[in-house]
Amino acid sequence: MTRPSKALIDLAALRQNYLTARNLHGGRALAVVKANAYGHGAVFCARALSDIADGFAVAFMAEALELRQAGITRPILVLEGCFDLDELIAAHANQIWFAVHQRAQIEMLEKAGLPPSSTHAWLKVDSGMHRAGFGLDDVKEAYKLLSRVPAVSSITLMSHFARADEPGESATEEQVKAFEEVTRDLPGDRSLCNSAGVLAWPDARRDWARPGILLYGANPLPASFLAQHPEQKLAPVMSLLSEIFAVKTLNPGDALGYGGTFVADRTMRVGLVAIGYADGYPRGVPTGTPVAIDGNASRIVGRVSMDMLNVDLTHLPQAGIGSQVELWGRQVDINQVAHHANTIAYELLCNVKRVPRIYTDQ
Ligand SMILES: *Cc1c(COP(=O)(O)O)cnc(C)c1O
Repeated sequence: MTRPSKALIDLAALRQNYLTARNLHGGRALAVVKANAYGHGAVFCARALSDIADGFAVAFMAEALELRQAGITRPILVLEGCFDLDELIAAHANQIWFAVHQRAQIEMLEKAGLPPSSTHAWLKVDSGMHRAGFGLDDVKEAYKLLSRVPAVSSITLMSHFARADEPGESATEEQVKAFEEVTRDLPGDRSLCNSAGVLAWPDARRDWARPGILLYGANPLPASFLAQHPEQKLAPVMSLLSEIFAVKTLNPGDALGYGGTFVADRTMRVGLVAIGYADGYPRGVPTGTPVAIDGNASRIVGRVSMDMLNVDLTHLPQAGIGSQVELWGRQVDINQVAHHANTIAYELLCNVKRVPRIYTDQ
């Protein structure tokens, strides 16, 4: 028998989430498939979306070229833009859109001498996140310079939110306002919303959405917000699965695993599961982190090892060797696991490795 650990990827759920995002936002939506589609496999995800998605977004050029080489013909936007002239020429040759967020990238375009009106640029406005993008004082000048480059046929104006996943927080409204003020007279499409923007900020919806995490069925907003918006229900795309391959009885006082951090206070049954932090399951989660065993709620006990971890079977006498364990997916909310791991679903998904990805499309 081979090791039973896998990431089951539900491509029908992915498509459903994409359509949910675009319907909520209106206009068009670039499916963000950077970082290997948040650990789900960029080529498989892009192919599954290729007949419905308006386009795709990735972080950097190699990710975009991988999609082109796999036969993806829809628009692709490179969010970090081109790092050098070679990348710019490759982007042009492959009809890849790129963000322009700093002066050097405009100079690169001027130097490249591409044919007139042969490329489309996304000008990135820093409306308050203070990460990438032209500051409010530089946007108009950058737009002017960019629009004077003969190769640039059109410009989309984009910005990114720092705190859209905080529904009560004014920072997002302030970013929208700053963006509006500085771009008022500038022609071109607009794009502001990441997943949290699509879900929680109707006033920020523009021509193009850029949903990422929501495509994969992980909602970035707090549970309290979701409770008020049941129509925004997303379908989990990845189920991280394994099986119990050994069972042990602990006597009161027995310490379990590295560090002996868990000590049984009564007679307990524990199951050993064939998955660990080398597969991307977070090492930092404490005893009590939820799992599902053959569909029943249970918990991690003791420290997560590199290749295995333990789960509590004391209340599940019917569970044993061969029982299926879901680490996250349809039964175990990845946001709950992320909370226990002191991180976010994004990081958990991106970190999945070593386990095979198995695709379903029912
Ligand atoms: C990653 C990214 C997105 C997608 O963000 P989500 O929170 O996953 O929806 C959108 N826009 C930019 C600029 C990004 O870097």
